[in-house]
Amino acid sequence: MHEMSLCESILQIVEAEAAREPFMRVTWLQLEIGALAGVEIDALRFCFEAVAPNTILAGAELDIVEPPGEARCVPCDKTVLLTDRYSCCPHCGAYGLQVTGGDQMRIKAMEVE
Ligand SMILES: [Zn+2]
Repeated sequence: MHEMSLCESILQIVEAEAAREPFMRVTWLQLEIGALAGVEIDALRFCFEAVAPNTILAGAELDIVEPPGEARCVPCDKTVLLTDRYSCCPHCGAYGLQVTGGDQMRIKAMEVE
């Protein structure tokens, strides 16, 4: 499952951070998952709960920020909001929009102790 491997890489990143700058555990973790990232937020939360126990992430509160998808339409030179990356331009109907935002997956912030 895509969300499971995403949670495992989050854990690896956090563990690497903990090795550089020792902390015992993460109390709060904020992720930025764009609307176009292709991640099911419910599945991600479910996988996080499965991965976290007995790791540095055990008991961490998960906060997920979901920036909307954004793309540029070349024919009408507008920035449009997208709910999925295969949509056409709502103004002129053109396909092949250039995604400019909302496809990111990253750890935005965390609190540790
Ligand atoms: Zn357009």
